[in-house]
Amino acid sequence: MREIQVSQITEAVAKLCMDAAYYLPTDVYEGLKKGRDTEESPVGKVVLDQIIKNAEIAKDEDRPICQDTGMTIVFLEVGQDVHFVGGDLRDAVNAGVAKGYVEGYLRKSVVAEPLFNRKNTQNNTPAIIYTDIVPGDKVKIDVELKGFGSENKSGVKMLVPADGREGVKKAVLDIVKAGGPNPCPPMVVGVGIGGTMDQAALLSKRALLRSVEDRNEMAEYAELETEICEAINKTGIGPQLGGTTTALAVNIEWGPTHIAGLPVAVTICCHAARHAEVVL
Ligand code: SF4
Repeated sequence: MREIQVSQITEAVAKLCMDAAYYLPTDVYEGLKKGRDTEESPVGKVVLDQIIKNAEIAKDEDRPICQDTGMTIVFLEVGQDVHFVGGDLRDAVNAGVAKGYVEGYLRKSVVAEPLFNRKNTQNNTPAIIYTDIVPGDKVKIDVELKGFGSENKSGVKMLVPADGREGVKKAVLDIVKAGGPNPCPPMVVGVGIGGTMDQAALLSKRALLRSVEDRNEMAEYAELETEICEAINKTGIGPQLGGTTTALAVNIEWGPTHIAGLPVAVTICCHAARHAEVVL
């Protein structure tokens, strides 16, 4: 059994929050540059130039890519041979989020209660935390900073098996088209297919952790990812003021589901597709 002090988790999460807020993942940055080269709209090219320049300034000056530094989603993969010592794991993760957002001067965007008081917690906690137990003695931490301009345009459709491949494609396109330019495109579209309603939504969030350059391992899903991405790029939404670069990628994750169901969840992520990872 390997012992890990929870203070290590706090420090790691704090750093990941700041790194994710300041440094756009290389694959997203390269995807934006490719989009700039192929964009057909002159105005779209100007917008992409600005988005790319903004990401470069953020990286060079250690500043947030966007003023909305998001709600913090933390994915933990915990080896079953790990024993956490020195405190509560959930508290340690939230302490890391608080430290990262306060010391990194990241905007605090979380309210404690959603409907009536909406009082800001002042340190971006609590995080949304998902924990998986896996073989081994390592801990993998992925932090996703989820802006709500794009989160608000996400959605779930509970399809039935007869809807099939075309139904899935239509469901994703309907959600993307309904959002129009509001989620700050070019976007990365995470799609979760299968499971239950909540599981599909979680799969769509996990899909955003995958590189925009990697396609699904299963050929049928890889083909569907490419096909939906091409269809999204034909909508004309473009990089906010119209154009051909609406999505950098569609990433699909799937899971087993019920014989009567075909849940489809879509998490739309803006061009500030921020996430960072470490293995302890
Ligand atoms: S959707 Fe993304 S780019 Fe737009 S304001 Fe929110 S975090 Fe920023």
